[in-house]
Amino acid sequence: MPAKLILIGSGLAGGLLAAYLGRRGYDVDLYERRADPREGNIVGGRSINLAISTRGIHALEQIGIAEALRHAIPMRGRMIHDKSGALHFAPYDVDPKKCINSIGRASLNATVIEAAQRYPNVRVHFNHKCTDVDLAGAVCHLETETGKLTVRGDAVIGVDGAFSAVRSSMQRNIDNFQYDESYLAHGYKELTIPPAPDGSWRLEKNALHIWPRKSFMMIALPNPDGSFTCTLFWEFEGPRSFATTKTDDDVRRFFDEEFPDAVPLMPSLLEDFRNNPTGSLVTIRCTPWYYRDRVCLLGDAAHAVVPFYGQGMNAAFEDCVVLDECLERFANNREHAFAEYFSRRKENADALADLAIGNFIEMRDKTASSTFRTKKKLDHLLESALPGVYLPLYTMVTFTRIPYAQAARRARLQDRILYTALVTLVLIGILALAVLLGGC
Ligand SMILES: Cc1cc2nc3c(=O)[nH]c(=O)nc-3n(C[C@H](O)[C@H](O)[C@H](O)COP(=O)(O)OP(=O)(O)OC[C@H]3O[C@@H](n4cnc5c(N)ncnc54)[C@H](O)[C@@H]3O)c2cc1C
Repeated sequence: MPAKLILIGSGLAGGLLAAYLGRRGYDVDLYERRADPREGNIVGGRSINLAISTRGIHALEQIGIAEALRHAIPMRGRMIHDKSGALHFAPYDVDPKKCINSIGRASLNATVIEAAQRYPNVRVHFNHKCTDVDLAGAVCHLETETGKLTVRGDAVIGVDGAFSAVRSSMQRNIDNFQYDESYLAHGYKELTIPPAPDGSWRLEKNALHIWPRKSFMMIALPNPDGSFTCTLFWEFEGPRSFATTKTDDDVRRFFDEEFPDAVPLMPSLLEDFRNNPTGSLVTIRCTPWYYRDRVCLLGDAAHAVVPFYGQGMNAAFEDCVVLDECLERFANNREHAFAEYFSRRKENADALADLAIGNFIEMRDKTASSTFRTKKKLDHLLESALPGVYLPLYTMVTFTRIPYAQAARRARLQDRILYTALVTLVLIGILALAVLLGGC
């Protein structure tokens, strides 16, 4: 008889994982605390659109649902908006075909759930909130609108996001369970640039727009309906911050000063700012991600990262591929499968967490500088001159499936070699000049 797996959370990773496990023949019950997102109950307080790239696309391809990308909008590079309204375009890669893709969270969520439901051995139950897990028995305690129930499986997989109830049960019940959460001093708020009256995009459609302002920034990603979803990443506290920007006048003044070219495109700015929630940005690390052959964590439940590399969902999708491979390899020993999955993913999740924080500084501060743009050009020059030998970090993270930790190590090595080569060249130049001048 196939093992019965209980999945908690039908967000992006939960739906996709259910499809993978359904294909592998498991008996799957997926419990989600919210209502069915296909009934219009869009996940509130989260990004409306996301950037999907090579790792995420590969995971969709492997289960045959890459057609979900037909509604995605390719973004070929960063469009930097400076305060004067001047624009600078910086392509993501030397190959113009390499792009990241803006995709709607709600439609992607619906696609993965439908992919799971194609398998008759997968059942999805909405409006079921997990409150606790009895780890040793793989028993989940759930709450619905009408009461409480208990379900038992052979294993429980927590795909219930950054504030995972499954992980909380592990924290309470596993000796030496290590847990670390750290919040950025910045929060985020989503705002809108609606389509032009003829339905077209009011900014360059095939770019990720950034208004870098050193300690904070705004970004905008295109949507298929001609609108852009903007996200302001700004300090919660401080002299100029979410905390001190209370009135419509404060908001208008701040935007006029910082994003003057965006303001005329944002007719609902004041309303959006007032009504939309301010989200927080958390990095979560924990160890281990599994308990015997009974419980396992995947996606944000195991490793939430801040969104600045556009990789949280991509990494969660990659988790699904890896867990599926491990379950195939250790078909008769689920504990080994969970252990192998954990050992393959943990150092990569940790590396991604660091990369994501590093990229916040790059996006909000460095993208505005000409030194940064020169470095990017040099990166692309080297990538063309040394194909397959030199790969910029962004390219490795976004356009390959090189494990994140390996990509980070390789980028550090490349930077060291480049730095040494540059210093050597400068020294040779100085020496040559000295010899020339000495000969005069
Ligand atoms: C502002 C922002 C922008 C982002 N942009 C990108 C991007 O461009 N690219 C990218 O790759 N990633 C991005 N991310 C990260 C991405 O959103 C997450 O990594 C991704 O959603 C993780 O998927 P998940 O399924 O693990 O968790 P989630 O998507 O959070 O899904 C968890 C699900 O579990 C359910 N749940 C929670 N608790 C319970 C419970 N007790 N019982 C039952 N169900 C429960 C929730 O309702 C939800 O449906 C962004 C994140 C943010 C905040």
